[in-house]
Order: sequence, then C-alpha cells, then structure tokens
Amino acid sequence: MKIYDKLFIDGRWTFPDSDSDAIDVINPYTEAVCGQVPSANEADTNAAVMAARNAFDAWAATAPEKRAALIQHLAQKLMEYTDEISQTITMELGMPISMSTTIQSGLPAGSMSSYVDLAKNLQVREEIGNSIVIKEPAGVCAFITPWNYPLHQIVGKVAPALAAGCTMLVKPSSETPLNAFILAKITQEIGLPNGVFNLVTGSGELVGEALCRHPQVDLISFTGSTHAGRRIGTIAAQGIKRLTLELGGKSTNIILEDADFEKAVSNGVKNMFLNSGQTCSALSRMLVPENLLDQAAAIAKDTALKLKVGDPADAGVFMGPLVSRKQQQRVLNYIKQGIEQGAELICGGTDIPDHLKSGYFVMPTIFSHVSNQMTIAKEEIFGPVLCIIPFKDETDAVNIANDSIYGLSGAVWSKDQDRAIKIAEKLRTGQVAINGGRHNILAPFGGYKQSGRGREFGKFGLEEFLEIKSIQL
Ligand code: NAD
Repeated sequence: MKIYDKLFIDGRWTFPDSDSDAIDVINPYTEAVCGQVPSANEADTNAAVMAARNAFDAWAATAPEKRAALIQHLAQKLMEYTDEISQTITMELGMPISMSTTIQSGLPAGSMSSYVDLAKNLQVREEIGNSIVIKEPAGVCAFITPWNYPLHQIVGKVAPALAAGCTMLVKPSSETPLNAFILAKITQEIGLPNGVFNLVTGSGELVGEALCRHPQVDLISFTGSTHAGRRIGTIAAQGIKRLTLELGGKSTNIILEDADFEKAVSNGVKNMFLNSGQTCSALSRMLVPENLLDQAAAIAKDTALKLKVGDPADAGVFMGPLVSRKQQQRVLNYIKQGIEQGAELICGGTDIPDHLKSGYFVMPTIFSHVSNQMTIAKEEIFGPVLCIIPFKDETDAVNIANDSIYGLSGAVWSKDQDRAIKIAEKLRTGQVAINGGRHNILAPFGGYKQSGRGREFGKFGLEEFLEIKSIQL
C-alpha cells in the first residue's frame, strides 16, 4: 500500500488545500485499494502554476549544459529506481512485471537519457538575411497524462520541456498516479530547482480543466482520449494556448500476400494484446488478402491461445487484467456489439474463465470476417480485441486503412521492402512499422486526423516547447 498525502509544489511536499477525500488507487488484479493520492482543488492548482511561473525566468536562463547535466542525473536515477517503478506500475495498471521492467520503467529512463545530447546541442540562434532568429522556451507547461504507459507518457513531455528551459505541472491519471510521485521524489533528490517540476493529482474535470484555463499556463500537452482532447482543445482555444494532443487510434496492420505470413500474423497478435490491448498505437485492424483470411484467422487463434493470461506478478504471464472495472465493461460491451453485428468470433469473447473471475480480465479476443463499417472496426476499443479484415488488392488495403477518423500508427508486411515503404507513404498516419520495425525513441511520435496534433520524442518533441522570435537588423 502506497499512501501519498501531499502534493509536490515548489520543491516541497505540501498538504492539499482541499478537504476532499483522497483518491483511492485500485490494483486491477486483486481489486483492492493499493494506494492513495491527494485530490487537489483549484487553490492547489493555482499554487502549483504560480510556483512554475516564478521558477521560469531562472530556469529559462540556465545554461543548456547545466540543464543537460540535470537531465542526465534524472535518467540515472530512473534506472536506479527501475524495480520500484516497474513494481508500482504493475500494481496500479496490471501490466505483467516482465514487460513493466523494460517498457514501463526502462523506456522512460531511455527517453530521458535521449534528451541529454538534445539539450546540450540545442541550436537557438540563426541568421536569415537581415534577421536574427531565436528559439526561446515556451513558458509554463501543463501536462495531462493517461494510465496506459503512465511514466513513459509523463517523461515524453517532461524531458523535452526541461531541455527547452520550460517549467511544468504534471497532472497524472487518477488510475495510475503513484509512479508520478516517484518521479517527483527523484527531481528533489537530484536538486532540480524548486518550482521547475510540480505534481498535482485530481480529477480531469476539476484539476485538468483548471490547468487548461489558467492564464499563467502557456502550453498544454495532453495525452489521452480523443473525447477529452476535444474538450481540452476547446478550453485551450479560449486562451489561445499552445497545444499538443496525443489521442486515440485504430491502426491497421497490412499483411501482403508475399509476407512471411506466419511471422507477420503472430507478431500482429502479440502487438495487439500487449498491455491487454491498452495501447494507443495498437494494430487493432489486421488487413489480409481475402484468399488468405482463413489461414490468417487460424494462425492468429493459435498464437492467442498460447498467450498466458493471469497474475501480472507471474514472470511467465503475457497479459494481465485491464486497468479498471469500467474499462473491462466497456470492452465486453464492444465484444457483444461485434457478435451482434455478425463478425465471426474465433477466440475469446465475453466469457471469463473461473480462475480469472477476480481481477478485471478480458480474454484475448479475435474477430474474423470483419467489415470496416462495423463498430468494432471503427471505434477505439482500448482492450484485447483484434479485428481481421479481408482486402481485395493493395489499393483496397490502403483505402480501408485510411477509412478511419484516426491516423496514429500502422504496419506493413512484405518481402519487398520498397513495396512496403510505398504503401507506408500512402497511409495517413503519424508512424508506420515495416516488417516489425522496432520502436525508436528518437523518432517523432504523434497522429494525423483525430489522433492528435504535434509530435513527441526526439528533436521533434523538443521543437514543441520552443517559441520562435525574429529580430530584424
Ligand atoms: P482520458 O482522456 O479519460 O484521460 C486522460 C487524462 O486526461 C487523465 O489525466 C484525465 O484525468 C484527464 N482528463 C479527462 N477529462 C479531462 C478534461 N475534461 N479536462 C482536462 N483533463 C481531463 O484517457 P484515459 O482513459 O486515461 O486514456 C486512454 C485514452 O488515451 C485512449 O483513448 C488512448 O488511445 C489515449 N492515448 C493516446 C496516446 C497517444 O500518444 N496518442 C497515448 C496513450 C493513450
């Protein structure tokens, strides 16, 4: 049980002004309370924003080398805290520990570390004709983050903001806030100047919206649902604030007839069920040639049935529970709709085995013979549900892929890499993996269409935190 009764404001642990009940954090495997964090109010939010505002001038004027050294120290500490971070996130989110260690803890440490050189080498001045063009830190930033890769998503904002010279407030998701307290503790341990990093916990509607409305907040970076992103965009527009949005997705995995079919299908299945399908870039629509549909379904089923589902603390488990009862019910409801709309259920479904009745489990579920017009193919389910959709030819595959309100990610499999790249170029999405291409922490991440605006990670992520000024001579 982890109990945090204070917020982190201006470098100090501070009791909240609010007398609201603390927020309970639920372990989704045991369904028991595993932690508590404060429920902040508007006064707390205002205090945190003013701390960030007061710290801004000095931090913005700090030499890039000094900022880089602090970022390096932060990255080292994140590595040292690997066990505590991964165990905490497994407890609050339910991702199996074997994967939490590399993904939920190792990945943020790596991303933080990638900003050491970017901070050091930041080019903030160039001459264009009779002008000097200067890049300056954007100001006080509000970060509102979700629960699925909680620390990764926080670090994807904090690291570039620190590198750029911005100060910040983090409001993590109320489902998985505990890891953010470890980060706050680390910022204190490395001696980050007071007020540069502040942590407030509370509801999106109260604390999140208060941050977005606050006149002293210059930039909002949000990761979460398209629904909340739209609301935040509306509020940000009132204050004409700079805005980055990382939202939902319904990404396609196009497997061409010349691909290594067995490998492509089984890789796609594992991608889909990673983190119980709670990944914004999950390849939730698998597109296969119509004459290979049954073969794809057989390989997919075989792969899914071999994945161990259960206690996230068990090192052999691939899939744990979903994050909450609400998320479990939402996903089961989508599965019912898939069945009602005539998709062919080839494994999983709404039944949950007796030994998994405690915990918010949904079994790996695969539908075949899915049409792109069905609800399960159109809406982001954010759970372990894979749709296999047949296509006639390459053009049809690209049309199906692009027939979505989302445009976050995608994948193409073919023996012919040039052919796959040509298809990748036609996809209206922010990233595409060819033949299982690995995640790159220096590559930009973000979405087209309703998957968001702006980019995170690497140098593109850093650019989001810089204002541009031209001085004419
Ligand atoms: P959510 O939108 O409900 O919540 C995300 C955060 O926003 C939380 O901190 C929440 O408290 C806050 N929030 C909610 N309503 C708000 C409001 N009106 N004003 C201000 N803040 C508000 O999303 P979630 O359920 O936590 O996360 C799942 C969603 O996030 C999925 O749709 C997923 O696709 C998306 N996501 C996208 C990316 C990406 O990079 N594109 C990454 C992870 C998750």
